[in-house]
Amino acid sequence: MDKCIYCQSSNLDKGLKMRGSKDIGHLHFECTEGSGGLSMFAKPEEVLADLCKDCGSITRMYVKNANHTFLKDK
Ligand SMILES: [Zn+2]
Repeated sequence: MDKCIYCQSSNLDKGLKMRGSKDIGHLHFECTEGSGGLSMFAKPEEVLADLCKDCGSITRMYVKNANHTFLKDK
C-alpha cells in the first residue's frame, strides 16, 4: 500500500514503532516460535505501523514475522 486509503496521499512514514508507555516498551503480540510451541516460552513480536503524514491516519498495522503461533485472549 503506497497511498493513504483515506486521503490518497503518498506521504507515508512506514515501519513506525508503537510505544505503549516507557515501562511497557513497544507494542507487541505474544507468540511462540513456529507452530505448536508452549505458551510458557511466549516471546514478543513487535507491532509496526505505517502513518499518513498528511491526515494522520494509521494506514497499516503489521508484524515483520507472522510465522508464529500468536497467543489469544481466552
Ligand atoms: Zn491520509
